[in-house]
Amino acid sequence: MEITAIKCPNCAGSINYLPGQRAVKCPYCDSVLDIKADPAEIALDLAKKKYQNADAARVGYLNNLRSWKTKGRILLTVQFALTMISYFLTEINSEGTGLYNFGMMLVVAVFVSIFAGPIWLKSKIPPAPQNIEEQLKLKGSVLLTIKLVALSILAMFLGLIAGVILYR
Ligand SMILES: [Zn+2]
Repeated sequence: MEITAIKCPNCAGSINYLPGQRAVKCPYCDSVLDIKADPAEIALDLAKKKYQNADAARVGYLNNLRSWKTKGRILLTVQFALTMISYFLTEINSEGTGLYNFGMMLVVAVFVSIFAGPIWLKSKIPPAPQNIEEQLKLKGSVLLTIKLVALSILAMFLGLIAGVILYR
């Protein structure tokens, strides 16, 4: 700790104070002096506050990202499960009655969701704060949509395979 000395404006005695100290009592004449914060200290405080804000933004962004990933997993699970169920329904009742029609409807719904789902999910990408590290940012590129569509198709395909295996 750097000790700074000032001259008492009352008695001209030398008063020592530490950084961060806001008031000091003169040991010679007992007058109390207010110490103005020095610019370096103010700058340091501001930098600390800015760092804390950035930290909070980072935590918030990572939470958003986590919930975004959860939504993606739920979408893929639903696509997987619905494909499996629609396979069951069409196999259980293949005479072209209600259940069969319902199964086919599900197939169409899942197929549509393969393309609609990723677009919906992509629109939910949390905006990254300006000072977030590059590797943590979620890239909202065309590649992301392609990747999401591919995962959706894979989920439907796996659902179909699971349906075939379980139905036997
Ligand atoms: Zn004094």
